[in-house]
Amino acid sequence: MKKCYECGKELKFWEGYHHPTLGLKTLVCSKCFIKVEKSMEKYRNFIISELIQEELKSNKNILDIKLKFFKWWNNIKTMR
Ligand SMILES: [Zn+2]
Repeated sequence: MKKCYECGKELKFWEGYHHPTLGLKTLVCSKCFIKVEKSMEKYRNFIISELIQEELKSNKNILDIKLKFFKWWNNIKTMR
């Protein structure tokens, strides 16, 4: 029997979602999937606002960093 990675709940064979960050081999239940997704969104928004702050402070062009970040983010998103 498979178990949810986050809460340990047993998953029936049709249940379970791929973990948003840990990839295909890790399964979570629907409740935990939503929880992880939400915290990822928060994390993403946090990083973006940090980047914007940094850009405003330094007056430098940090477009490179932003592009790297979005690439990395999309990789995570498509790993499911
Ligand atoms: Zn769970």
